[in-house]
Amino acid sequence: MNVQNIVVAGKSGAGKQPRVDVLVQTYGLRQLATGNIFREYLGTFNKVRGDAKTDGLWTDGKFAADSAIRQALSPACAKAGVDVDAAMLGFKAAQYVDRGRFVPDEITNALLAAAFRAGSGKGFVLDGYPRTPDQSDFLLALAKDCGTRIDLVLIVDNDDEAIVARTIGRRVCPNKSCAKVFHLEFKPPTPDGKCTACGTAVVLRSDDTEEKIRTRLAEFQSKALPAIQRLSAAGIPTVSVPGNLPVFTDQAVQDSVLAVVQPALRS
Ligand SMILES: [Zn+2]
Repeated sequence: MNVQNIVVAGKSGAGKQPRVDVLVQTYGLRQLATGNIFREYLGTFNKVRGDAKTDGLWTDGKFAADSAIRQALSPACAKAGVDVDAAMLGFKAAQYVDRGRFVPDEITNALLAAAFRAGSGKGFVLDGYPRTPDQSDFLLALAKDCGTRIDLVLIVDNDDEAIVARTIGRRVCPNKSCAKVFHLEFKPPTPDGKCTACGTAVVLRSDDTEEKIRTRLAEFQSKALPAIQRLSAAGIPTVSVPGNLPVFTDQAVQDSVLAVVQPALRS
């Protein structure tokens, strides 16, 4: 069947990425990860931020009109050859990210929509989105508006203690064009701690401390789980796979994913 879009959900550290990889390869989809979307648009804004006059465009948590923001960013964007709308989205996200503040749904939705529309025609595996019930409603409306649909939600299920153990062992490739993820036990880097794809020394992310992991686990319960329930209630088939497998090989991951995904897509 023609698979259009799949949402992969699960607690942070549950083991989503190997399942995303299976779906990308099996169904010819592309991964659309919120973290990458933020990096992309912030990167676009960063190309013009030194040159653009942004004073007065964000006051007391309120943005100036989009037309005023576009006008302010336009000269620097023209000079740098970047898209002004993309730079505006990056500018808006940066106001929260720079201050370490929670990015409101409205901004996250705008970034997701821009990336989703830019890639329309090719299906996505959504990862890290939706994370609130409002984002779920937004996604359903966006898919409809783009003439596509959400075929399935795949939940990667894992218990909290297993996640804490897994996450503390996680290492990432800091090379931005690679960003491969490893695990000291389950998917190790080279014996001398280098990325198997590009040879950069892998690192522990600052987000991967136990305290931060437990905060993210609590957020999953309070926000992301209701977001998934909203999609299920809207009639999107929802299946789950175990995050931990007795034997963790690529083949075992693929088998466990396709065993539940294929029947759900056919029904
Ligand atoms: Zn690498």
